[in-house]
Amino acid sequence: MRTVNAYAAPSATGPIGKTTIERRDVGPKDVMIEIAYSGICHSDIHMIRGDWGPIQYPLVVGHEIVGTVSEIGSEVTKYQVGDHVGVGCMVNSCGECEYCERGDEQYCVKGNTQTYNGIDPVDGTITQGGYSQAIVVTEDFVVRVPENLAFDKAAPLLCAGVSLYSPLRHWQAGPGKKVAIVGLGGLGHMGVKIAAALGADVTVFSQTTSKREDSLRFGATAHYATADPENFTQLANSFDLIINTVSAKIDMGAFLGLLKVDGTLVNVGAPAEPLEVPAFALIPSRRSWAGSSIGGIRETQEMLDFCAEHGIVPETELISADDIDNAYERVLKSDVRYRFVIDAATFA
Ligand code: NAP
Ligand code: ZN
Repeated sequence: MRTVNAYAAPSATGPIGKTTIERRDVGPKDVMIEIAYSGICHSDIHMIRGDWGPIQYPLVVGHEIVGTVSEIGSEVTKYQVGDHVGVGCMVNSCGECEYCERGDEQYCVKGNTQTYNGIDPVDGTITQGGYSQAIVVTEDFVVRVPENLAFDKAAPLLCAGVSLYSPLRHWQAGPGKKVAIVGLGGLGHMGVKIAAALGADVTVFSQTTSKREDSLRFGATAHYATADPENFTQLANSFDLIINTVSAKIDMGAFLGLLKVDGTLVNVGAPAEPLEVPAFALIPSRRSWAGSSIGGIRETQEMLDFCAEHGIVPETELISADDIDNAYERVLKSDVRYRFVIDAATFA
C-alpha cells in the first residue's frame, strides 16, 4: 500500500480538507498514475451534497484525471512508465456482459465501478477519486492522452468531453443536423465544440445572453436566453437533437417543444429532483426523451484522439487545492468559464 495526500469532503457541507488515503499495491494488470491535473465536475458537488442519495464520508471525489504512469504490473501491455494517461468516471466493470463486451462498460449489467464512491471489486474498499496525488487503476480503464493535446487542458475531456461526445455520436450529430445544447457549463461548452467539429449546426440555450459571444466562439451559430419565453415560440419544431446538460430541474415540456418530428432530447444533466415530462410534448411529433451516461473506454480514447486531431480543448481555470470550496460556490452560481482544473502539485 502507498499513502498519498488527498483532499476529502468530511460531510455534505464541510470544507474540503487535506487528508491521506491508501492506494493499493500495483497488481499484475494495474498501473500507478502520478496525478498531474484533476478537473472539477458538477457531479462531484452533487455526490458530496447527497443530491443522489446518502454517501459515506470522508470522500475524495474527482473523475477527470490526467497524469503520468509511474509503475506498471507484471502483465500490463498497453502502458509504460512515463506515459501520459487519463482516467475518467469508472475504474472497473464485470468485463463479461453483452455491454462490456461491446465496449459500453458504463452500462455494465452489474454496474460499473465508479472512480469515487464505488465498491472496488479488487479489495472491497470504497473508491476514492482524483483529488489526490496518485491512483492505481487496472490498465483496461486507462486511456492514453495524445501528446499534441495540452496536458493541463485534457483532464475535463475525461468526463465532460466524453459525456457529450457519446450522445452526439450515438444520435448522429453531423452535417445537416440541427443540434441544441442546453446549459453552457463544463459539459455544455464541450458539447458545442464537439458538435460543431462533427459538422452539426449548433444552437445554445443559456439562462441569459451573457455567454453569447463565448457560444459563437466555441462554434455555435446561435445563442438564446431561456428567460425569454418568446424564443420557445419562435423556435418550436426546429431541432433534430437537443442535449440537456443543466444540473437543476428545468421545464422539459418547453424544450421538447423545440424538437422536430422524430427529434430526440437527451438528458445528461442529473439534478437531485425528478424531471417532469408532459405526454403531449412527446406524442404529437413522435419525439423521444432519452438519457446517456458518460462513454465507454474505447469511445473515450476515440474522443481524446478526435479532440487532438481537431484542436478541441476545454476552456479551463487552473486552481490550487485550497481553492476547491470557492470553485464549488462558483460552479453552483453558474460562474464557471468553463471548467476548474486543480493543479495536483498543490496536493503535496
Ligand atoms: P456546470 O458546469 O455547473 O454546468 C451546468 C450549467 O447548467 C450551468 O453552467 C448553467 O448554464 C446551467 N444551469 C445551472 N443551474 C441552472 C438552473 N437552475 N436553471 C437553468 N440552468 C441552469 O455543470 P457540469 O459539470 O457541466 O454538469 C452538468 C450536469 O451534468 C450535472 O448535473 C452533472 O452531474 C451531470 N453530468 C452527467 C454526466 C452523464 O454522464 N450523464 C456526466 C457528467 C456530469 P447557463 O449559465 O448557460 O444557463
Ligand atoms: Zn463528471
